[in-house]
Amino acid sequence: MTGATAKAMLLVEPQRFSATSFAIPEVEAGGWLAIEATGVSGSDVQIWQGTNRFMRYPLIPGHEIVGRIASVVDEAFNIPIGTRVVVESTIRCGACRRCLSGLHSCAFRKPINAYGRLPSTEPPSLWGGFAEFLYLDPGARLHPISDNIQAPVATFTHALADGFTWTVETPALRAEDSVLILGPGPRGLAALIAAKEAGAGWVGISGLTEDSDRLTLAKELGADMVVDARKADVAGSVADSLGARPEVVLDVTRDDPDAIHTALDLVRSGGTVVIASIKGVRAVNQLFSDIIVLKELNVRGAFGASSAGYHWAAQHLEKDPRLDKLVSHEFPLDEAERAIEAAAGLLGHEELIAVAVTF
Ligand SMILES: [Zn+2]
Repeated sequence: MTGATAKAMLLVEPQRFSATSFAIPEVEAGGWLAIEATGVSGSDVQIWQGTNRFMRYPLIPGHEIVGRIASVVDEAFNIPIGTRVVVESTIRCGACRRCLSGLHSCAFRKPINAYGRLPSTEPPSLWGGFAEFLYLDPGARLHPISDNIQAPVATFTHALADGFTWTVETPALRAEDSVLILGPGPRGLAALIAAKEAGAGWVGISGLTEDSDRLTLAKELGADMVVDARKADVAGSVADSLGARPEVVLDVTRDDPDAIHTALDLVRSGGTVVIASIKGVRAVNQLFSDIIVLKELNVRGAFGASSAGYHWAAQHLEKDPRLDKLVSHEFPLDEAERAIEAAAGLLGHEELIAVAVTF
């Protein structure tokens, strides 16, 4: 790789991309990945908007990465060069207190040791999926994925891994449990798929009018209830469909602090609320914590996916042909900003499911 360069779309500051080239340096450990596709998530939209106040710029966004191993140092990762892999979004140093506690938010690098979230001032700069090459840190976790899957479709492994972690692992979902998902974006749809596969008895999902294509797809994917929260009362719709309150409520809305109220109100007493979305600079107003006490709720914050979640997702992707249509929009690298605008719904919402940058 010596002497090679990588084109990248660098987010210099919120809402200002710059097409840049980085020299690919010699590294002492880890390796390099030739990126094939990178999915665009709601958190990428927030980083672009500047509403995630923990981020430091400049950075190369993109954490839903699929590519082929281009080079490694000393047979790192024990996977042959040329193998197509999904790279877990978060990097684990394995030695910090968070890693030793089994959390996914390693604090070895700031603000967080994760792809698409590290500033490019951190050597060797190439930490994001909106670039031709990615540095494979020795703490990166790779999952081989079949060549038969189109690269953009393979980026959905990331959402599926999150969906599995947040609806099955985190709340310790049991067969026949009921799950309400707030937000029908890629992670909401992935959570629906994972919950159904895990044997959930009922899965409902709520969205807004602009999510109509996603809600239609949710129905096709087996949702027992879909509701447009602009047109119908979510609580009433859940009561009509389920006849009870759900054991688990997952918040994967984007920029919606009110979803916390909905989740706490609608979950069953003794149930679990999983909050997996960043509210950025927006506070949850008028939150009275007594509801958590009096309903004896389990409230969990969730960041990133477990390796078991990725393992499940990579296997599931190969056997579920319904996932082929989940990536609705693809853009080349130099149109990364349009890709983010598309994911944000700023280019129109028609037939919007999930977005990827392809190489
Ligand atoms: Zn760590």
